[in-house]
Amino acid sequence: MRYLVFLLSLIIALSAKAEKPHVVATASMIMDMAKNIGKEHVQVSCIVPIGGDPHIYKPTPKDAKLVVNANLIFKNALTFEGWLDELIENSGTKAAVVTVTKGVNTIKSETYNSPDPHAWMDVKNGIIYAENIKNALVTLVPAQKQAFEDNFAAYKKELEALDAYIVESVNSIPAEKRILVTSHDAFQYYGKRYGLQLESVQGISTDGDIQTKDVLHLQEVIKASKVPVVFVETTVNPKVLQQIAKDTGTSIGGKLLSDSLGDEKTGGDTYIKMLRHNTDLVVEGLKSEKVEAPSIEEENTATNYIFTGVIAFLFLAGIAFMFAKNKQ
Ligand SMILES: [Zn+2]
Repeated sequence: MRYLVFLLSLIIALSAKAEKPHVVATASMIMDMAKNIGKEHVQVSCIVPIGGDPHIYKPTPKDAKLVVNANLIFKNALTFEGWLDELIENSGTKAAVVTVTKGVNTIKSETYNSPDPHAWMDVKNGIIYAENIKNALVTLVPAQKQAFEDNFAAYKKELEALDAYIVESVNSIPAEKRILVTSHDAFQYYGKRYGLQLESVQGISTDGDIQTKDVLHLQEVIKASKVPVVFVETTVNPKVLQQIAKDTGTSIGGKLLSDSLGDEKTGGDTYIKMLRHNTDLVVEGLKSEKVEAPSIEEENTATNYIFTGVIAFLFLAGIAFMFAKNKQ
């Protein structure tokens, strides 16, 4: 019996030692960055699942469990995860909460009078995220400082290469065609860094109502600039933008990854691949020529012609009939 107790305590002691610190990220892009820097020294999880929308996410009891067992929580902040404070408070977690956007030069949304959360779309900001993550991991596991520094240095090089790739790719689009139309306003940082004009159906969050004036404005822009393609997003309902595309005779250029990574099937399942995926889609789409599809007005006009033609034919046939009858 005494041996059994000893054996059990040994197993518990060993498994406790093998247990890695738990790091929880709110969104999948942040999770991926933390994995790249923490590597085998930490265990990283994410609250909002792949394809989920962090703006309007509703935490589950499973999330409360995740948060309560966490040693460190990474958040984007800038109004991105409005539900997080309540989740943290209700769970009673002792985890340190670190804002990964600390030090980022934020863009302010005039319409909402609040900061735009989508800072990761500019890779220069992505490097700031990664550095904040590295510093927090060093504080959490000081014994692995060197490993985290090395991982960060290697990752930073990859991010710098990604930034150069996007600059070069976007520069290959003719200047007058650099207009990016999306479902929600998630690409202001991207547009500012890489030189694209941004237009969207909805503002910087997806929880607001769609305004008729914004839809009309978008239709004007698409028609006036002959925008060949517009882009839906994996995390946003595409219905309104699909209708606008139909009404303006433009096409859908594909699905952009805005507020979540993609999955293995669709691609873009890391932060680096996500931005590459978006860039390749945007560049290919905006370089294409606008395919002139008949607009709804033109279709209506065609129907009117046929209708008028039929009436005129019946009218003439009637006159001919009367004429023939009178002659008899
Ligand atoms: Zn968003």
